Amino acid sequence: MRIELGEPYSSILECPICPQPAHPDYSYVHLGAVKVNRGGEMTMVAPEGEITYQYKPIGRGSEIVIYCWCEGGHTFELVFQFHKGQTFVRAIRDQDVAKNEDGSTAWPPELWRD
Ligand SMILES: [Zn+2]
Repeated sequence: MRIELGEPYSSILECPICPQPAHPDYSYVHLGAVKVNRGGEMTMVAPEGEITYQYKPIGRGSEIVIYCWCEGGHTFELVFQFHKGQTFVRAIRDQDVAKNEDGSTAWPPELWRD
């Protein structure tokens, strides 16, 4: 995966679950939280604040997980994991966003944005 250098906003994160490009929400992805696992010491930055706790180590390197959701209602985690000098990236699907009793979407919390 190669990311473009240059001006801000030159690359847009797209939802890996939306049937692109027909789905109108595939490029409207929100960031919910970030977790960094450093040998079993997990630090999470979430909308409510930061927390550090012990967790199981992931291999011999660190792992960075970014929790994301799109306006189409899909949730997924972007996982960056170091391994032997390279960084692997993968997306893991999570449960889709729930609906409220009145049928509206119960959007998950997200990191602060303007
Ligand atoms: Zn989506």
